[in-house]
Amino acid sequence: MVSHDSQVWLPEGKLPHGTAAQCGLEGIVGRQIGEWQGECVWLVSHQKTSQMDSVRQLLDEDVALFQLAGRGVQLAEFYRSHQFCGYCGQKMVHSKTELACLCPQCKERYYPQIAPCVIVAIRRGEEILLAQHQRHRGNSILCWRGSWKWAKRSNRRSPVK
Ligand SMILES: [Zn+2]
Repeated sequence: MVSHDSQVWLPEGKLPHGTAAQCGLEGIVGRQIGEWQGECVWLVSHQKTSQMDSVRQLLDEDVALFQLAGRGVQLAEFYRSHQFCGYCGQKMVHSKTELACLCPQCKERYYPQIAPCVIVAIRRGEEILLAQHQRHRGNSILCWRGSWKWAKRSNRRSPVK
């Protein structure tokens, strides 16, 4: 999998399959990010001159393959945005044992972030309790995006049928 700037290389509309030489990637460092149908999947943070496209082009593929490609795009972005240590500015190195960036000077470790999405609905018979802020107007229910910290602060909720 070749990714750059949140895009993936999709020659002939598919993820490339073959050796580095067959894919024109000789000499470019890659890292293994998973397996697909018994074969190693490698991520190469690199921009090809053409056929770079959104990972969404793989939506019609197998769900597991699409998810692996999405993970590859996120990891490529993680490595791109963690080239230097946020504490001391030293150039980072990639861990050989895990998906992480390491600072050789201050020994700080950086891991890809996990951003879970949680939706909770509390039911009592035919009623359903949905969180709604006091300032909320109208009868529509919003899809919220936020963190646990934010959810704890907004403890004013009203039942909605
Ligand atoms: Zn550092």
